[in-house]
Amino acid sequence: MKPDLDVLSQPTPVPFERAARLVKTPTFRQKTVPHGWNLLQFRPVRAFVTWSGFPAVLQLLVLAVFVALAVIGWGHYTPAGVNAKLYAKTNLVNLAIWGLWWPAIIWMTVLLGRAWCIVCPLELVSSQSEKLGRKLGLPQAPLAGWLAKGSLVVLLFAGLQMLVPGVQIHRVPHYTSLFLWTSLALAFGVGLFLKDRAFCRGFCPVALLLSAYGRGGMLAVRPSGQSCCNPNSKAPNARACPSLLNPARLNTNKDCLVCGDCVKADPAGEMQLLLRPPFSQTDAREPLASWPLTLFVMIVSGFVTYELCGVWKAADPVFAFVPEQVIKALHAGAAGGWIKGLWTIVAVPLLLWLVLGVLTLLLGGAKSLSEAWRRLALPMAVVVAAGHAAKGLEKFTSWAGFLPFAWAEPTGVQTALQMNAKAMPQPAAWFTLPTLSVLAMVLIGAAVLLALREARLADTEKARTRYLPIFLLGAFYFFLVFGWGGWLK
Ligand code: SF4
Ligand code: SF4
Repeated sequence: MKPDLDVLSQPTPVPFERAARLVKTPTFRQKTVPHGWNLLQFRPVRAFVTWSGFPAVLQLLVLAVFVALAVIGWGHYTPAGVNAKLYAKTNLVNLAIWGLWWPAIIWMTVLLGRAWCIVCPLELVSSQSEKLGRKLGLPQAPLAGWLAKGSLVVLLFAGLQMLVPGVQIHRVPHYTSLFLWTSLALAFGVGLFLKDRAFCRGFCPVALLLSAYGRGGMLAVRPSGQSCCNPNSKAPNARACPSLLNPARLNTNKDCLVCGDCVKADPAGEMQLLLRPPFSQTDAREPLASWPLTLFVMIVSGFVTYELCGVWKAADPVFAFVPEQVIKALHAGAAGGWIKGLWTIVAVPLLLWLVLGVLTLLLGGAKSLSEAWRRLALPMAVVVAAGHAAKGLEKFTSWAGFLPFAWAEPTGVQTALQMNAKAMPQPAAWFTLPTLSVLAMVLIGAAVLLALREARLADTEKARTRYLPIFLLGAFYFFLVFGWGGWLK
């Protein structure tokens, strides 16, 4: 009998006797026993993860940094006569949040899955307020289904992206401070009135980004190969997980916050914290992404296009041509930023995905445009994440040199004025643009190969119909980062 290789990647468990029979075949073993090192084998790691202060102490430290930045940034705007782009780098708040933290989050998620969630201060605030609400006897409702699917998260993420061109949130410390305070207040309020980690599951503006980009991450909580199909397993069940997941059947990174609660509730030692190769073959894959996730990937593909064009001087005016004409025609003035935002996260994604979706339809990969988009979303997320990571690398390495100056003068006003007047030299970027261009091309090339593999693993039958669209988006991003090197004069 041919073994059913995908049996454990399905949400429905197979009967234990059948699974035990199948485990005997070498191919099945290779696919179902999670590959990678179980970090919990190392005593210091197990002691740390099972320590009662994990991860709260780490979250508390990061919370202190968040609050300090929010306080420092409050009331500070770009000073008159100072270049806003330069001020963004000299002010500690802008630099730390948008120049260092945000690119680091993208890279961390691509490489290590939802590792950021381990230290996230918002989870600490929402979990503590949830406890407080319980103690105060407040009525705490479960999260509504539409919220749990990420419908609000995608809107919040789109709103955040609109604030970049709209009010230059990434360049104005006061707006960044407002963003931090609002996030903390929302986490607190949601925790008080909704239960089961509702903020992380239905309100966190980056939850879909972490879920989409972190699927192939190398850090993962998984049950051991013996426990995942065994009805007699002592691996913790859904009661042990504050996110309402079933740790004993965990087979994807998409919702797990790596909080370690299931490891603590696992005296039999059946839960593992794996460090494994990226995009493990043992993970479950959905052939059809949810609508919120699909919309997220579409929106972010437009934003990444804008970001990649921004580094290449020749591409920037091409990207901005249409919104500039609209702004002129409407005499939009200060509202022009919002028009650019709509162009970036609505019009460009629709144009891009219309081409990619129609191509998938013509190749017979879907019965409707919406189905084509949903089938493309998850493999495409790999390519989009690589583009995002490439831009993140460019930003991190060109902004990091400003850190000593921002540390010495957190408001950054004098530094910006002196640099503006050329009385003080600006720190050089760590890498030249040609070097970054080569690194970005390698990254996007590798992402295209991984995305093709993801398409095949998610749905072998229809995979071929998605190869060309994936390749085209990869080629488009590849072309843009090729332009960074200045080789197309
Ligand atoms: S889902 Fe969002 S709020 Fe929750 S831990 Fe992760 S980043 Fe933090
Ligand atoms: S599965 Fe385990 S590590 Fe993941 S969120 Fe649930 S309790 Fe935390």
